[in-house]
Amino acid sequence: MTRPAPLYSEKLARLSNSGEDEEPINLLLVEDSRTVRAQLRQYLALLDNVTLFEAGTLAEARTILDQHASEMFCAILDLTLPDASGLDTVEAVRTYGVPIIVLTGSVDENLRQAVLDLRVIDYMFKNGAAAIEDVAYLIGRLRQNQRMQVMIVDDSTTFRQHVAGLLAQYRFPILTAQNGREALALLEQHPEVSLILTDYHMPEMNGLELIRRIRRQYRREDLSIIALSATHHPEISPAMLKAGANDYLTKHFTTEEFYCRVVQNTNMVRYVRELRDLVNRDYLTRLHNRRYLFEQAETLHAAARAGKHVLVVAMIDADHFKRINDKLGHAAGDAALKHIAQVMRWHFAQSTIVARYGGEEFVCVMPMPTTESAQPYFEMLRAEIEENPVPWDDSTIPLTVSIGLTTTLGDSFADMVELADQALYRAKAAGRNRVMS
Ligand code: GH3
Ligand code: MG
Ligand code: MG
Repeated sequence: MTRPAPLYSEKLARLSNSGEDEEPINLLLVEDSRTVRAQLRQYLALLDNVTLFEAGTLAEARTILDQHASEMFCAILDLTLPDASGLDTVEAVRTYGVPIIVLTGSVDENLRQAVLDLRVIDYMFKNGAAAIEDVAYLIGRLRQNQRMQVMIVDDSTTFRQHVAGLLAQYRFPILTAQNGREALALLEQHPEVSLILTDYHMPEMNGLELIRRIRRQYRREDLSIIALSATHHPEISPAMLKAGANDYLTKHFTTEEFYCRVVQNTNMVRYVRELRDLVNRDYLTRLHNRRYLFEQAETLHAAARAGKHVLVVAMIDADHFKRINDKLGHAAGDAALKHIAQVMRWHFAQSTIVARYGGEEFVCVMPMPTTESAQPYFEMLRAEIEENPVPWDDSTIPLTVSIGLTTTLGDSFADMVELADQALYRAKAAGRNRVMS
């Protein structure tokens, strides 16, 4: 007997490129076909941390929702069930406040419009495995949307609320501003914003001026802008696009068109981020890699030579790391490296470059106002790692690090790394689990 090939999906595999650990989510699938249920189950298994609740009838769906509605990320609904048809299922599930994806075999255009009018996330046709894969992919994307901040800039409260409602369905965190001036102030507090939707006509500062100002600081591929306008003057859209908008939409958009544009524009920003991460970060720990370290550290080194700050370079190496691999296996070693990376991310401020230098060696480059605080600062890091053993298999692995650091401003950054390495060597020779400078 031949066994079915394990399911693989190129599309879903691409979702995990972001390298983020996903929060657990619950989904409800209401579908009477066992085949479709089994297919979707298989695809969803390719996403991390998904729990699927399954119902074959509307009555079963209600029983599940009565208990779990508040914890549901979204519901995937078939329209025709043994005990429901038309809009029944959508209307029933809507009363629980759970966002809905419709997956149906029905090609009735009137029904499709009626369903879309009820503000579902999407209406998808059940026409083979590719459609099922698309549903799983959409859910993976919705989950990632939770990390994509979107700002709405419009002087009309009604319009802001309308757009915020649409974006909330897609799980985007939302900021709102009433005009260009407010938007710029808000952007300063939230530089991580991925997409801005801005109106043209606004008091204080209009959309065109806002776009010009944003583009002095943010490139099109780092922060996407969709310009909106109520009236279609042929001169407005090219002006906004030339000023730096990525896209243009009149306010009379249909919900479907709106979502298509938002998805395309946020995807573009996301892809660019993912590519940057592939180039600048280490795959296992998600810390910066050696290439990025040398590129950025040269700038910090030059500023230190110009007297702008002092520079601390530290080399951190796990003690007897080989023993973890030998005793518990390579996966345990990998978990330990990720754990050290996490502790360092907590410990260091944004201005510090923390990089994986080689196997179990890390380098930190930290600009500081004076040299005195360097040693105690790294002493604290050493203690934090010692006091927080690596969680592994319902138990923990004890782990320590040795740290060598230097504040001697060498001729080059590479010289400072060499000095830190010599200090590290002394820390190892003196018995490990200590900081030397
Ligand atoms: P010391 O206290 O002297 O630093 O001893 P050590 O065992 O930590 O140092 P050594 O340099 O002898 O060994 C480092 C080990 O780290 C060997 C290598 O297999 C392991 N290592 C390097 N990169 C990885 C990785 O990505 N994953 C895992 N699991 N192990 C790694
Ligand atoms: Mg080591
Ligand atoms: Mg080593």
